[in-house]
Amino acid sequence: MKTNLLGYPRIGAKRELKKALEKYWKGEITATELHQVGQAIRKENWLMHKEAGIDLIPSNDFSLYDQVLDATMAYGNIPTRYSEIKRSKSDLDLYFAMARGLQKDNYDVTALEMTKWFDTNYHYLVPEFSKDQSFELYSTKAVDEFKEALSLGVLTKPVLISPVTYLYLGKEKEDGFHRMDLLDSLTPIFFELLEQLISAGAKYIQLDEPCLALDLDDRERNAIKKLYLNIAQKFPQLNVILTNYFDCYGDNLETVLQLPVYALHLDLVRCPLQLNDILESELYTGQQILSLGVVDGRNIWKNNFDKALTLIDKAKKHVAHDKIWIAGSCSFLHTPYDLDLEEDEENLPTKIKQWMAFSKQKLRELASLSQLASDLPSEKAAVALINNRRQFIEKQNSSLIHHSLTKQRVQSLTEIDMKRKNSFGIRQEKQKQELNLPLFPTTTIGSFPQTKAVRAWRGKLKRNAITQEEYDEFIRKETENTIRFQEHIGLDVLVHGEFERNDMVEYFGEKLKGFVFSSNGWVQSYGSRCVKPPIIYGDIHRDELMTVKWTTFAQSLTKKPVKGMLTGPVTILQWSFVRDDQPRSTTCKQIALAIRDEVADLEKAGIKIIQIDEPAIREGLPLRREQWSFYLDWAVDCFRLASCGVEDRTQIHTHMCYSEFNDIIQNISDMDADVITIETSRSEMELLDAFVQFKYPNEIGPGVYDIHSSRVPNEEEMEYLLQKATKLLPIENLWVNPDCGLKTREWPETESALINLVKVAKKMRAKS
Ligand code: GLN
Ligand code: ZN
Repeated sequence: MKTNLLGYPRIGAKRELKKALEKYWKGEITATELHQVGQAIRKENWLMHKEAGIDLIPSNDFSLYDQVLDATMAYGNIPTRYSEIKRSKSDLDLYFAMARGLQKDNYDVTALEMTKWFDTNYHYLVPEFSKDQSFELYSTKAVDEFKEALSLGVLTKPVLISPVTYLYLGKEKEDGFHRMDLLDSLTPIFFELLEQLISAGAKYIQLDEPCLALDLDDRERNAIKKLYLNIAQKFPQLNVILTNYFDCYGDNLETVLQLPVYALHLDLVRCPLQLNDILESELYTGQQILSLGVVDGRNIWKNNFDKALTLIDKAKKHVAHDKIWIAGSCSFLHTPYDLDLEEDEENLPTKIKQWMAFSKQKLRELASLSQLASDLPSEKAAVALINNRRQFIEKQNSSLIHHSLTKQRVQSLTEIDMKRKNSFGIRQEKQKQELNLPLFPTTTIGSFPQTKAVRAWRGKLKRNAITQEEYDEFIRKETENTIRFQEHIGLDVLVHGEFERNDMVEYFGEKLKGFVFSSNGWVQSYGSRCVKPPIIYGDIHRDELMTVKWTTFAQSLTKKPVKGMLTGPVTILQWSFVRDDQPRSTTCKQIALAIRDEVADLEKAGIKIIQIDEPAIREGLPLRREQWSFYLDWAVDCFRLASCGVEDRTQIHTHMCYSEFNDIIQNISDMDADVITIETSRSEMELLDAFVQFKYPNEIGPGVYDIHSSRVPNEEEMEYLLQKATKLLPIENLWVNPDCGLKTREWPETESALINLVKVAKKMRAKS
């Protein structure tokens, strides 16, 4: 059985591409040097894939920034604001101008919008379409890279984003047309590209069509039918691999089974049941190859061979063996490079490491599975199976994973644990008395500038260049200065500044039991930006206080209330690699209980306001609507579990950013936080509409200061936004705050902006 690899990480085992990109942008290396780094990464990947015995090796899965932007270049879909750059600068500069904007010399253009790639933490650049849109074959990167691999002796399978998914992922920039209508003008350009690939020697094409994992309408389904019929007619000799991932084909299955394609890829990690649906369908003739995506491209756990083989065996009963491929569930772009680079026993003990597989290890898993699925597996493969079984049994029984008290607590949860003692109306009265805040109370979202100095101190502590005491002393000083600053400018509810935190999830992961951390487990988030998600391997529990020390220290410095700052359970879950041996909801409840304990300890220590950030609630939404309510129910339950253990007088805040609320406002309201702060300034308060229409009853702080740029908002702008908000919501429910934390800002701009913000609140108070 052949092995099929959908795509591979491209940032470099040691983030070589990231470093080269950043140097190129700073003008420290030339375009040629940058391309050399890319070439070296591609070469290393291809040769590694070949050596690992992968049969269908991808090309064009590499990208200097983003694969959707690559398609935009290929199809010459360059928005007019870049025309001048296109004329006078290199294609590489054009490419990066679209990726990052260009503000230099006489140029001042914004970048393409960026948004999340399906339900991953990868972000792509959104194609823009206009009514009289035309396309041209502008970049032949896919062909060049195919040839490049061939010259190394590797016959690859070029990976292309299908024109339909490409159009689907974009946005109309004017009214009067639907972007799917552009398929007819895009198809000929796409065909030119196919022609060039075929004449270069390509036998297979992987056509990525992940929009099939979403709810499609007839227009989109018809576009798909049309495209694939056209391809089959025009290129009968080409083997097209229709590739969907991240969820089932679902409603689209009927359409898909009638397409004249050579192979059909299934993500069996996300949707194991669809294999049955296909095998039992009358529409499936057994002619199409089934590429069985059994090795998880979205997580870092070892493949359970028995489980995968069960699926493969099922297919073997229905179809000829040569019609079955063994594949990764999706591109390995979403998994780190190589587990062998992890040598830090303290952060990632061998005992846990042995349960894991990064991309390089997953290649071997594909090869082993293909061996094991054959009639005469090699001895090596047989040994691998025995080891794999043993490891899974060991893991199941490992005392590292199981914490019985946590399990018991989750099991005995009831409705009462997820409910405040009294309704919001009653709580609001009590909180008013307790806190005695003015109208339009001012606050910030938590973090204050994480300056170079702050990061340098943390670095020194990590390298043991300073003692814990020295570090703590430094954090104490920063915190004290920040409290003094906030008092000085007259903010009403203060924060300690989060100087002790590297990252809002990592910080909690490091304190909680059940987490481990990799040293090199980087995953591309966008462009040169990578994240290193914590790894949840076992039952989560808290056996030390996490935030009480710094919060109470800050509170001891001032008479004003200091807000305790916690990251919510859903966000911690969402931004980690999560264990796959129990439902995500169970893991989330375990985290929620740990946060709940911290909330209780903060309250006990005299903290009157506690904020539980949940910026990632929305991004956890399943791809298909029908699964939304299931997810939202447990996600909201988890927030309530974390937050509802307090007295009426204790005020619970939550914070969310980069989110739209229209279709989840009921759930946001069900979270029942006393105060929610949200990002609204960039949308001119448009994001408030959902709250207004819903008549959201609790208090709200719509952000009036866009913290994403260094620009200092003046009083008039903030007053304008706030005025707008007072027309929409009861003024006694309004807070005044920035959009998000101030971690990425510098002090001077932060100071000026917050001084203005307080002035505006005071002005509004005086007027009311
Ligand atoms: N409290 C966090 C901070 O201020 C919130 C960050 C976020 O919402 N992304 O940094
Ligand atoms: Zn935020």
